[in-house]
Amino acid sequence: MATCEIISVGTEILLGDILNTDAQFLSRQLALLGISVLYQTTVGDNPQRLRAALEIAAGRSDIIITSGGLGPTPDDLTKEICCDFFGKECVYDDESIERMSVYFSGKGLKMPESNKKQALLPKDGVILKNDNGTAPGCAIEKDGKHIIMLPGPPGELKPMFLDYALDYLKQFSTEVILSHQIRTFGIGESAMAQAVGCLLEGENPTVAPYAKDGEALLRVTAKAENEDEAEKLMKPVIEKIYDLLDGYIYGIDVENIETAVVNKLNEKSLVLAAAESCTGGYISKRITDIPGSSAVFECGIVSYANRIKAGVLGVSEKNLEEYGAVSDPVSKEMALGVLKVSGADVAVSVTGIAGPGSDNTEKPVGLSYISLAAKDGTLYTKKLTTGKSGKNCREYNRYVNASNALNLVRLYLEGKLK
Ligand code: ATP
Ligand code: MG
Repeated sequence: MATCEIISVGTEILLGDILNTDAQFLSRQLALLGISVLYQTTVGDNPQRLRAALEIAAGRSDIIITSGGLGPTPDDLTKEICCDFFGKECVYDDESIERMSVYFSGKGLKMPESNKKQALLPKDGVILKNDNGTAPGCAIEKDGKHIIMLPGPPGELKPMFLDYALDYLKQFSTEVILSHQIRTFGIGESAMAQAVGCLLEGENPTVAPYAKDGEALLRVTAKAENEDEAEKLMKPVIEKIYDLLDGYIYGIDVENIETAVVNKLNEKSLVLAAAESCTGGYISKRITDIPGSSAVFECGIVSYANRIKAGVLGVSEKNLEEYGAVSDPVSKEMALGVLKVSGADVAVSVTGIAGPGSDNTEKPVGLSYISLAAKDGTLYTKKLTTGKSGKNCREYNRYVNASNALNLVRLYLEGKLK
């Protein structure tokens, strides 16, 4: 049985400022993998003491997992010390630099020069992607000993462990490890954790909640002698999760909500169309990102100007004048209009104020109306007031509006539109 030592790096843990929840999470996950955690060590942000801790750990364990100290500031030294300890040369990883700049531009920011050092990664190591932050993690090996470096913030460490490090660690398990990712929309991580309650305490399978791409997920992982047995262990737990989170789950092991929508449209042989205002084609882009979407997607009309809303989609001038472009009646007429123009089975529309400026009315930035119209007579509108305001709100609001529109289609296809 492989043995492991967890080294938690961070002076704030030693000072008692924060609780070491990373070590608790890692220990539980490693127990399931059949990896014995023999020691948990905490060390401050101090290069000499971290090096000394690594020396001791490498002398008594096969695997060392560090948390923390992967940030961009000068006191974040974990990767440098670990790579130096194993004599690993670091080089800039272009893919990580690209991912980091996309991460920053998604927030409307330019990547600071200091962050570049996070993309300095061991040449012959395994890079662990960070989907929730900038610092990639990595795993290195020397003479049969392994060091896996993970970032400190639990919101980054958990997804990195569950989505990437787990695969790396499977090599140490004598049994089969299988896992499923349950994806939800419309519920936050803590509300979801509360809803599934005691399932989180299970030992085999384990159920771990985390957040990614602004969505809450659950990773169910089981250990067994073979795949069938592992599936058998997970089945009742997954069924229970479906009961507890009814309506929120859009798929298991699917990449994203657009994939789930395309799959469901395919299953039902239905065709979708979209009328977009503030999302500027975002829904259409995300649907057409999915290979094979041409079979289920008819068209997307970006009716940005009121003239096009009226002229192309048939939105009434009266409603545009009386209620404004961002309103329930206009959103409904947009969906009905594109349904008619396209001949599709289902149509979705979005009209909203993405910001940062408002639309010269009293309406707040972040307000939007999302409608769904279908050939079977369904006509439904959801008013969203959860959008953000402020400097970098535009990208966020457009993404969230598109996600909510896709979710509305998903709920309709599942017969759960309420
Ligand atoms: P960053 O890029 O945020 O600097 P990092 O990988 O360098 O990430 P640290 O600087 O060590 O990580 O820690 C950042 C924050 O993550 C801490 O302030 C704390 O809130 C949280 N954190 C760090 N270590 C742990 C831990 N062991 N358990 C729980 N939370 C932790
Ligand atoms: Mg840091």
